[in-house]
Amino acid sequence: MNTFYALWGVKTPEEAMSQIEKQRKDAGITAPKNLEEQAISLVGKDIYEILIKGYTEKQWGRKCTELPAFIIQRLPVRFTFNNNYFNDIYQGIPVGGYNPLINGLLSGVETKCNTDFFANREYFERIADKTVFTGKIDEFYNYRFGKLEYRTVRWETEVLDCENYQGNAVVNYTEREISHTRVIEHKHFEFGAQPQTVVSKEYPSEWQAGSEPMYPVNDEKNNALYQQYKRLADDEPAVLFGGRLAEYKYYDMDEIIENVGGL
Ligand SMILES: Cc1cc2nc3c(=O)[nH]c(=O)nc-3n(C[C@H](O)[C@H](O)[C@H](O)COP(=O)(O)OP(=O)(O)OC[C@H]3O[C@@H](n4cnc5c(N)ncnc54)[C@H](O)[C@@H]3O)c2cc1C
Repeated sequence: MNTFYALWGVKTPEEAMSQIEKQRKDAGITAPKNLEEQAISLVGKDIYEILIKGYTEKQWGRKCTELPAFIIQRLPVRFTFNNNYFNDIYQGIPVGGYNPLINGLLSGVETKCNTDFFANREYFERIADKTVFTGKIDEFYNYRFGKLEYRTVRWETEVLDCENYQGNAVVNYTEREISHTRVIEHKHFEFGAQPQTVVSKEYPSEWQAGSEPMYPVNDEKNNALYQQYKRLADDEPAVLFGGRLAEYKYYDMDEIIENVGGL
């Protein structure tokens, strides 16, 4: 509602809803041909142009008119003055960040870091009855059907000589003209009171060998390719394929933790 007020000066959910409804009708899109048309048909032109277009094009490195409509099934719009991005009851990160949590979970478990499964595949397959594989599924099968596409991001980090740079842990930049998508100010995750501040600008790009694959590109072409690999994986009783790279699916942290129970 704060956004709708800033956009249109509306103060009640009813006014905001009727503004969106009017823009949806004005657009007159019945069968969206691409992501742009789909988004406008869901939330109207203003929200699409100010909040979705530039951010999506930066994130995916593709124009919204060239992205398929089905990527966006729905665009959640919330008519409350609560500025939280998610509706979850509990939101946050573990005290001290994720390292203490992971260290605790793995305490007493033999762990090897910086060890590529593929560099010594035969050895790892020999020592285990069951393997949980969380790497790239196409690489697991030596790319036999072709390469899946992934997106990645890189960060430019700097220490600034001010106490508080942006007043929040994350600020999103939705406009196309600014090439980073987000600025992270790390101290705000744990209410830091240091005299200086560390800030990371996030730049999305296409994944290439040597960088870390982060997001699957779940368009029609890649999903079809993934299904070919999945058919092989379903027939692999000694290996459990889990996570965003092995299941070629976007997961948030809470979803991935829940998903582990199903493995
Ligand atoms: C920039 C960014 C921001 C995010 N922000 C949020 C957020 O705010 N909230 C939220 O809920 N989620 C967020 N996520 C999503 C979150 O990171 C994922 O949900 C979570 O990490 C998925 O867990 P996973 O086990 O599927 O994959 P990963 O955490 O990627 O684990 C896969 C593991 O497999 C290892 N691996 C891969 N290949 C090999 C190999 N060949 N040999 C050995 N090891 C290998 C990798 O090193 C990695 O440790 C974010 C993700 C990114 C990229």
